[in-house]
This record gives sequence, C-alpha cells and structure tokens, in this order.
Amino acid sequence: MRESCRWNAIGWERHALDITSLPKVELHCHYDGIVDPAMLRALCAAGEPFPVPADDLEAALPVRGLDDFMRWFAVADVGSMDLRPFVPVLQAHVDRLRAQNVQYAEIYTSIPRGSPDTAEGMRRFAESVREREAGETQIEFVIQIGRGGAPERLQAKVEEATALHAAGLVVGIAIAGPEQDHPIRPHTRAMRFAHDAGVPIEIHAGEWCGAESVWDALEYGYPSRVGHGVAIFEDEALVRRFRDEQIHIEMCPSSNVATGSVERLSDHPIRRAFDMGLNVGVNTDDPGAFMCSMDSEYRLLVDEFGFTAEELDVLRRNALGARFQPTLRVPIDGVD
Ligand SMILES: [Zn+2]
Repeated sequence: MRESCRWNAIGWERHALDITSLPKVELHCHYDGIVDPAMLRALCAAGEPFPVPADDLEAALPVRGLDDFMRWFAVADVGSMDLRPFVPVLQAHVDRLRAQNVQYAEIYTSIPRGSPDTAEGMRRFAESVREREAGETQIEFVIQIGRGGAPERLQAKVEEATALHAAGLVVGIAIAGPEQDHPIRPHTRAMRFAHDAGVPIEIHAGEWCGAESVWDALEYGYPSRVGHGVAIFEDEALVRRFRDEQIHIEMCPSSNVATGSVERLSDHPIRRAFDMGLNVGVNTDDPGAFMCSMDSEYRLLVDEFGFTAEELDVLRRNALGARFQPTLRVPIDGVD
C-alpha cells in the first residue's frame, strides 16, 4: 500500500512537471530536418512558401524505419544547398525554440551555395535567422559534412568550413551521414587540418554501426562531441573512455526509435548512460521527420525513463558545457 502511495506521489509529481518552462539547450538539429506539414502550411499562409508540398510531406509521415526516413528526406529535400529558402523555416523554428524555453541551440547547416560567395551567404543566412532570437535564445551554426565520397571531397569541404569558422560565421564542424563503409580513418588529414585550426568537431557515430565505428571516430576525427552513440554500450572500454574523458554524447531518442537504430524506446541507453556518469544531452536531430520537439523529448525522458527536473537540468548543463560557442550573448539559467 505504502509503495503504491509513494509511486502515485512520484507519478503525480512527474505529471505535474511543467516541461515547457524548464530551460533547455539543444546541440544536434539539422536545418534540413525541421520542416513539418503544419509549418509549411503556416509559411504558405504567411506568403513565404517553402518549395515542398505540405500534403506530400504529410504522406511521408510517420517515419518508421530507415527506408521511411530516406523517403521523407527525398520529399523534404529542395535539391540544392542554397540556404535562402530555409530562412523562413529556420525563423519559424527559432520561434518554436523560444516557446519551449530553449535558451541556446546549435543548428547543423550545409555550406551555403547560390549566394554571392560562401562567407556572405552564411553571414546573411545567420543574420536572418538570428532576427528571431529576441534576446531569449542564442542560435549558432555548425557546418554539417557527409562522410561519403573521396578524401579530397571531404578535405575541400573541411577547408571551406574552417574558413567560415575563422571568419566567425560558424562555430564548428559536424560529420554526419551513413557510417557503413564510410569510416573516418581515410579522412584523418582533413580532420587534423580542422583540429589544428582550432575548429571544434562533432562526429555522428555509433548510430548505424557498432562500437568499432565510435572508436574510428575517436581515433581519427578529434571529436569533442559524438552524435547518437547508442553503440558505445557494446564495449566496456569505450564506455570507460567516454566517462573518463567526459566526451559529450548528443543523444536523440525519438530519432533512434523512428529510424530503427534502437528497436524500442525502452532499449535506448540514455538512462543507463546518465546513471553511469557519462556526459549526455538530449536532442531532436530532425524534429520534422520524427515529429518531436525538445518538449516532447523531455516528456519522454520523464515518462519512460523517470528523469526528474534536477536530472533534466544536468542534461542541459552537460549540453551547455559542450557547446562550440564559448561566448554567450543571452541570459541563460545558471550562468552568471
Ligand atoms: Zn544528426
């Protein structure tokens, strides 16, 4: 009886938690994974149409498995890396982040094409998006680069991203894309180039491949953060490395369930990672594709994994400590 009362008290406390008001930090969200049908319709009504039909995008939802995600992406892809069509999308996204009390966010973005030049394109894009910060949130941009292709291709992109970083237009580099058959090792030279230039590096690893892919990222990629990392727990030595060095892991539970990286939500290692003292945060990855938000990720952590408000705040502080932009220009809870 007492147990049941206690459980009820905890359950009530969790239910009563005002998720939206909790301060949040997000480090792992892709600019081309944000759109959803409601956003597209709202943009269209506001006279800022995005070149993807809302009905087509709706038909590609929900995403249940990797093939579904590829189909969703094929619909949402505007076919170029011109960032200009994404300005209203990102502006709407920043409005949503503010409404969820996300006080700092890094967004993974392609190198801009189709603009006067790369640096000017990036500057205009960043300024247009930041118009919506309203002193309540801080948005920073990280250049995302796919793993595939020849080392020369990745090297060229890393050099472009490094120049954008040197110009103060972006805060780091994220290496994303399919891990299978695309190890980091052949790109050691490019990764060392970025590292030596002082560019912070994130690598998506352990999402689709096992622990060996995470080792490959650590050994050859100089990451200070790893995206996903669900495979870390296959290897005790790897877990120790992450714990001892406090390498930040950007975990994305809804993404991992939607794409089948983990079979069930209950299989997700975020609670285990947290309890073992690993440095983890929570992220949406592609909120449009996975129909999630920072609020819904927090709700899931509370309901499925029993996270308390204090524990959620540890996730936030972990992410804040792993950010690539040292300078904060908005008030953030717990930072003087
Ligand atoms: Zn990602």
